[in-house]
Amino acid sequence: MNRPILASIHTQAFQHNLNRVRELAPESKIWAVIKARAYGHCFDAALQGLASTDGFALLDIQDAVWLREHGWQGRILLLEGLFHENELDLAQELHCDLVVHCEAQIEWLERYADKVHKSISVFLKMNTGMNRLGLKPAAYRTAFHRLHAAGYRLHHMTHFANADQVDQLPTVGAQQELFNQTIEGLEGPTSLANSAAILWHRNALGDWVRPGIMLYGASPTGFYTDIEHANLRSVMQLHSEIIDIQDLQAGDRIGYGGRYEAPEAMRVGIVACGYADGYPRQAKDGTPVWLHDDSNTNGGVICPIVGRVSMDMLTIDLRNAPNAKIGSVVELWGDKVPVDQVAQFSDTIGYELLCAVAPRVPVKII
Ligand SMILES: *Cc1c(COP(=O)(O)O)cnc(C)c1O
Repeated sequence: MNRPILASIHTQAFQHNLNRVRELAPESKIWAVIKARAYGHCFDAALQGLASTDGFALLDIQDAVWLREHGWQGRILLLEGLFHENELDLAQELHCDLVVHCEAQIEWLERYADKVHKSISVFLKMNTGMNRLGLKPAAYRTAFHRLHAAGYRLHHMTHFANADQVDQLPTVGAQQELFNQTIEGLEGPTSLANSAAILWHRNALGDWVRPGIMLYGASPTGFYTDIEHANLRSVMQLHSEIIDIQDLQAGDRIGYGGRYEAPEAMRVGIVACGYADGYPRQAKDGTPVWLHDDSNTNGGVICPIVGRVSMDMLTIDLRNAPNAKIGSVVELWGDKVPVDQVAQFSDTIGYELLCAVAPRVPVKII
């Protein structure tokens, strides 16, 4: 038998969440964002579960190669464009759409113009206030005309810094206004919205939306309560099992550093999951873990983490779970414990935890 940890990926939940995006953005086409191994869910599962998307958006051209080799014939957007000029032949061969965000990329495309057989689609990215990637509005129109003259098919793109927060600067409204002013009179479809904008700024979608985190069933804000009523399903369930049980006396301490001291006699369960699996070491005492228990009317019970998470194991308080035994199944996150809740107890967001699921964790696509 293998070590009992397992990440199960539910392709029906993927499909459900993609349908939710269609309901929320019925006029838009969808780039399903699958960077970072599909936010840690693996490309195989994303390709199966999200096959009805209009396109996949990702970072690494080698992942585009993978998608083509596995039969994906729809569109592929390289979200940061090319990293080197010498990738242009491959990008063309793979029929990738390219984000263009800087002067160097424009020059590469101008030099390449004669070698383009079929027009390449470019998503020209404008920096409307996030100040990460993109051309300043003052430089945008010239860039547009240069690429247009070179024969490329152009789209207009920007990215919101605060679609998940109210009144934080720069606001969605301010970014959107700058974007609209700058592209006035220029042809081409637009792409603006990430998950937060799709959920909360339905007037800022554009012709192509770019959902990431909502497809995986987690919250753009990092707080599960914000998406509790959005009808999204968690796609990944991270399970493991209790591999040992300790009976403690009042005053006994648990694990490295002895962070937790038993206030009374209690049982604790040792779970085969640690930070080398991607579970956050920062998780505080009290972080919820779900223990399956058929004799419980809810099918299980929350057993909080006690003591520091170590490389391969963590420890849970079994005072609520008298039936727990070696082999009892636990859910670290999934549909019983939202990943965002674990994240909150670890001072981070669900995105980071999902992306960090370690390669040693076996994945099962369901
Ligand atoms: C990652 C990313 C997205 C998706 O963001 P979510 O918050 O996960 O929806 C959209 N657009 C760009 C440019 C991105 O890099």
